[in-house]
Amino acid sequence: MNYPLELTVMMYHYIRDPGDSADYGSGIPGMPVKAFESQLDELSKEYNFVTWSDVRLALEGERDLPKSACLLTFDDGVRDHYLNAFKILYDRKLSGLFFVLDRSKEEGLVLGHKIHFLLAHLGFTEFRAAIWETLNFSQREQLIKADEHYQHKYPSVSLDGEVNRLKAVLQREVSAEINPLLSDLFEKYIGSETETARSYYLNLDQIREMSAGGMHFGGHSLTHPWFDWITADQREVELRTSAAWLRQIEPGPWAFAYPYGGLSDDAPELLNKNGFIAAFTTQTQLQHTDPYFIGRLDGEELASEGQRYV
Ligand SMILES: [Zn+2]
Repeated sequence: MNYPLELTVMMYHYIRDPGDSADYGSGIPGMPVKAFESQLDELSKEYNFVTWSDVRLALEGERDLPKSACLLTFDDGVRDHYLNAFKILYDRKLSGLFFVLDRSKEEGLVLGHKIHFLLAHLGFTEFRAAIWETLNFSQREQLIKADEHYQHKYPSVSLDGEVNRLKAVLQREVSAEINPLLSDLFEKYIGSETETARSYYLNLDQIREMSAGGMHFGGHSLTHPWFDWITADQREVELRTSAAWLRQIEPGPWAFAYPYGGLSDDAPELLNKNGFIAAFTTQTQLQHTDPYFIGRLDGEELASEGQRYV
């Protein structure tokens, strides 16, 4: 493979309309289905869509990618991808690369999704108050300290800043303590977390149907942690279980998407060891010099800004 690799990679998360079945009563907004379709229309005018197999062969030095190659990727393995994205891609004879969480134990929601659900149900102010109430004195101190740490990055000038700061603290500094507390809040305000997770994430039947329909699958870890926030041993477990889940779906080597786009220096070595040949970040980049740091464009963000994709 001759670097840099020239490849436009689109990144998507939720593709849903308010109240549609993919929304699953969560109230969590996503990229409207029509906006996704018209973005595909636009992209098809300027790009040649490629599949994960094409990209894998290019990385292995077997075959070059066409000019203006574009790969469509989808993070988190949520029901939107089966109900909305898969149908649209299949009808257009396109393929997507779907980064799924390891669901072999069929546990609850990952922390980031619990936060999404609770924010959507309670609103920011009530959510923050509910968390505060459940914390003990030292946890409150920890939260205040971590909150100060992110003041600079996510200032309080807008509600977005407040929300992102709270998310950052919950997903990182207090993640271990807050995870079970958020499960309690979920049961209190929304309902059964296990039931929700079972329907909210893709199951193996849906994944197999998508795979038979030409879709590809990559890893996205087990618990969706920030990779720079956990230990090397934990990273190893996250990647090993992710590979074991993928092995049932399609043969490797696979692709991986870093949860939250969080990076760690030892990730390439650990990924390689566990059968991953490439990894995708959330950094905007169209040329890539390292197969374990392939940048992407956020499709939803581009659609809402009405930007062009070149
Ligand atoms: Zn994710």
